[in-house]
Amino acid sequence: MTSLLLRHIGELVTNDPTLGDGSPLGLLTDAALVVEGGRVAWVGPAADAPDADAVQDVGGRAVLPGFVDSHSHLVFAGDRSAEFAARMAGTPYSAGGIRTTVAATRAASDEELTAHVGRHVAEMRRQGTTTVEIKSGYGLTVRDEARALAIARVFTDEATFLGAHVVPEEYAADPAGYVDLVTGPMLDAAAEHARWIDVFCEEGAFDADQARTILEAGRAKGLGGRLHANQLGHGPGVQLACELELVAVDHCTYLDDHDIAALGDTGTVATLLPGVEFSTRSPYPDGRRLLDAGVVVALASDCNPGSSYTSSMPLCVALAVREMGMTPAEALWAATRGGARALGRDDVGHLAPGARAHYAVLDAPSYVHLAYRPGVPLVVDVQGPAALAGG
Ligand SMILES: [Zn+2]
Repeated sequence: MTSLLLRHIGELVTNDPTLGDGSPLGLLTDAALVVEGGRVAWVGPAADAPDADAVQDVGGRAVLPGFVDSHSHLVFAGDRSAEFAARMAGTPYSAGGIRTTVAATRAASDEELTAHVGRHVAEMRRQGTTTVEIKSGYGLTVRDEARALAIARVFTDEATFLGAHVVPEEYAADPAGYVDLVTGPMLDAAAEHARWIDVFCEEGAFDADQARTILEAGRAKGLGGRLHANQLGHGPGVQLACELELVAVDHCTYLDDHDIAALGDTGTVATLLPGVEFSTRSPYPDGRRLLDAGVVVALASDCNPGSSYTSSMPLCVALAVREMGMTPAEALWAATRGGARALGRDDVGHLAPGARAHYAVLDAPSYVHLAYRPGVPLVVDVQGPAALAGG
């Protein structure tokens, strides 16, 4: 097995508090890292680095765990830039725009959808993302949801069945019939491709009773549950997620004290998606309030064509720092180890010995530059899983 020594690392983020400076980021300066067999074999001060088969000098740059983007909707077709422009001219955002993408996605070929996902995954990787969750949810028929998940699975192990994204046009008069379809034949077809099941629990999408029914059906098929909740207003979704002890509940923009207490008690990860508030010109979630209450916070892109068409985790970090009261350290942790927690993963999102050697090299002396230099393409090298490499 060949080993690689990365040396002359100006700042190494391990995300292991037992290493380095003892902070949650486990920072080491003037550090080195050894990779062997795709895993981190050693980290420590450069002066103590062991020999390796190959050596790469990173020139004093910062090295951090690859971003873990735990929430995206990449399997889609069509363009909604006109809707975005209209929104910026004053038209409010609503969940109904999803149906526009559903029509375009159903009309696209498998090859078109696969190529489209591949382009976006490659785009994410160039910005430092090495683990991505991908949802279905723009097919909304048995056939179209199953194929969306089969395509997602080409690129990630973290595929999520989101048949309950919105009630499609043809079921507008019979939402209960659509829930029966989602929990019946659609789930049967989706389950073999998916690891997770998700529901958009929001006014205009699915209510708490429907969400509970769908999540329980998914669990009975062996899928883990996650939830979109409390995005457009205060709703019951966060309480439901905590009651069902889901691994994560995403958006969390409108929370009351009971919601925050429940998240703190259960350990359900609150995944914040600031690209949505940016792209819909909406108030941001209060990351500071969550962190001060001891809630585990993750950051993700929610990359989708309607409410957040960004694939950039560095942008999410910068927004979390500028708009959500988070420190650069908290935002980076949330975008890496927090995302891993939201996916129930302990092998990614950190660079302690034994972890997967998925990392990004920044053309900067510190991870702080992600927020300090917003919009600048600082990622110069990425090592991650083979499935993401081709794109
Ligand atoms: Zn979403």
